[in-house]
Amino acid sequence: MRAVLATHNPGKIREMREILGELGVEVLTQEEAGADVEVEETGTTFAENAWLKARAVMEQTGLPAIADDSGLVVDALGGAPGVYSARFGGPELDDDGRTALLLERMEGREDRACRYVCAICCCFPDGRVLRSEATCEGEVGHVPMGDGGFGYDPVFWLPDRGCTMAQITAEEKNGISHRGKALRAFRREWELNGADR
Ligand code: IMP
Repeated sequence: MRAVLATHNPGKIREMREILGELGVEVLTQEEAGADVEVEETGTTFAENAWLKARAVMEQTGLPAIADDSGLVVDALGGAPGVYSARFGGPELDDDGRTALLLERMEGREDRACRYVCAICCCFPDGRVLRSEATCEGEVGHVPMGDGGFGYDPVFWLPDRGCTMAQITAEEKNGISHRGKALRAFRREWELNGADR
């Protein structure tokens, strides 16, 4: 079976290929499948955004399409940056700028609980929809630490480990991260309901 990944992110393409390759699924990029949709992430939840992206690419290619959407949810900020994680503070900010803004908003706050969330969705041309979602719990740190990972990882404090998400290896991150967990749950979902009918 062939499926299209509804993303341009090379990291996501590599991770998906690793996981779904084991299931005998040939994962194509949007370019390989001839899809040129740019989907606006107008959903209010991660699951809705993943579904919007997967559905658009499935409709254009006629192939099963898989998309994910992820972000950081901070309790003390009412769930922000949430679905706006990649755009927090506006388009002119980079990862460091967004991290600095997050620390600024958290100044003086005692409740620092937060979580990463990742939702994955696959839309099939026959109408089937497979979904998975997972979280990774942590706390917003006080100063950035470490240079691994990406995004908010230098301030994503892991209380059990006494370090940030940017201070562990990529393999360790995969084992505990929202994306790693959601991908493994998605693989189980695919084994049960994703086979050719
Ligand atoms: P997406 O590509 O729309 O899923 O955007 C996800 C955004 O959420 C990223 O740009 C990061 O800001 C943040 N994010 C999601 N997952 C992670 C992670 O594992 N580490 C750090 N930041 C993340």
